[in-house]
Amino acid sequence: MPPEKLHWAHLYEEVVTSGLCTGCSACVVACPYDVLGYDDDGRYKPFHVEATGGATDCTHGVKGCTLCTRACPRFRDWEPEIEQHLFGRPRTADEVEGIAADVVLARATDPELHEAGQDGGLVSALLVWALENDVIDAALVSALEGDGTSWKAVPAVARTRAEVLATAGSRYTYSANPLAYPEAIAGGAERIALVGMGCQASAPGVMAARKAGKVARRFALSIGLLCSKTFDDAIFDELFQARYGLERADIAKMNIKGVFQVWTHGGEYHEIPLKEAHAWTREGCLSCPDFAAEHADISTGGIGAFNDWTLTLVRTERGREVFAAMQEAGAVEVRPAGDDPGAVALLRRLSRVSRKRWPATAVPIPGRLPETQPA
Ligand SMILES: Cc1cc2nc3c(=O)[nH]c(=O)nc-3n(C[C@H](O)[C@H](O)[C@H](O)COP(=O)(O)OP(=O)(O)OC[C@H]3O[C@@H](n4cnc5c(N)ncnc54)[C@H](O)[C@@H]3O)c2cc1C
Ligand code: SF4
Ligand code: SF4
Repeated sequence: MPPEKLHWAHLYEEVVTSGLCTGCSACVVACPYDVLGYDDDGRYKPFHVEATGGATDCTHGVKGCTLCTRACPRFRDWEPEIEQHLFGRPRTADEVEGIAADVVLARATDPELHEAGQDGGLVSALLVWALENDVIDAALVSALEGDGTSWKAVPAVARTRAEVLATAGSRYTYSANPLAYPEAIAGGAERIALVGMGCQASAPGVMAARKAGKVARRFALSIGLLCSKTFDDAIFDELFQARYGLERADIAKMNIKGVFQVWTHGGEYHEIPLKEAHAWTREGCLSCPDFAAEHADISTGGIGAFNDWTLTLVRTERGREVFAAMQEAGAVEVRPAGDDPGAVALLRRLSRVSRKRWPATAVPIPGRLPETQPA
């Protein structure tokens, strides 16, 4: 970070209102004065909660607090800063899916975790292993609100195997998982794993790179979920219910594999073309260039020919340590990504597609010539 004191007024102008903000909520949890709120009711954006100072002036920024800009994974030169910190170098132009030490297919060996998981249950296996082997005290994940029938995805804390199992699987509306941080701290957690799409998975890396205080030190592991977009909650009523007669409470499971796949509690299976769903794309995703959760310790996805394996990118030294220890303990089964070359090709293709969304309001893509920058 340059010596200039960069604070909420800069973040508000350069990220929150410029089209760069993904709504990841990292700035909100990094703020030590609790003056930033988060609107999760369709807007998914941070805001200044106090009447004094108005929307742009948090009043603490002018006194020298810079923590929100230090925590934001879209502020100024975020990508080379995080990569320099995590990998000792920025990516090369060819590393379109980000820097990774290993790309493999993996799945939980524990049948219960495997069954509960969206793909191979690798994320759940990682969390359970890390909780039971003194690597983390808690994980910030996503749950369904209440009894689950509303399908509203909300941030949650998992501290036990039962809580990991209860929050496994994927929801395709936005859940700002960092917002569960205060609950984890209140429960006594000091070492925390964050599970989230790329927008969120970059937060621990940027916080560490920019020394964003205690919050930065408490993130012990970042587990990323590959992601092209999330949808507004209104998709349930305005598309699934209105056009397909699918009530929220009847939906048992969802997946996206070229189409929206929906299974009901009654045993029915429906397919909804993705092009029908695009109108409900969440605004914060429209300018997101990160498909492959490129700054997580370990990134995971479901693309490829094998539905019950998780495509896994082991990225950082920390990710390698944890993954190797799990393998040694027999908690995870691994096969080469070369067994599914189509998955790797699709990973690169989808990463390239997302990178074309590099926002015009952002700093230019690092390392690329001006004529090859997106318009
Ligand atoms: C919104 C979204 C979009 C995705 N898009 C793609 C894609 O385009 N291509 C691809 O290959 N993979 C995508 N994935 C990743 C994929 O669905 C699986 O999460 C991943 O393969 C890990 O599977 P698993 O069985 O190992 O995870 P599991 O063991 O099932 O664990 C999944 C973890 O994700 C958390 N989670 C679930 N929903 C959300 C949410 N909405 N927000 C934040 N955290 C959540 C859960 O709490 C749990 O901790 C997406 C995931 C999400 C949530
Ligand atoms: S991208 Fe995240 S950290 Fe940055 S302003 Fe938006 S919500 Fe805050
Ligand atoms: S596309 Fe996915 S990773 Fe990007 S902002 Fe949207 S939810 Fe986050």
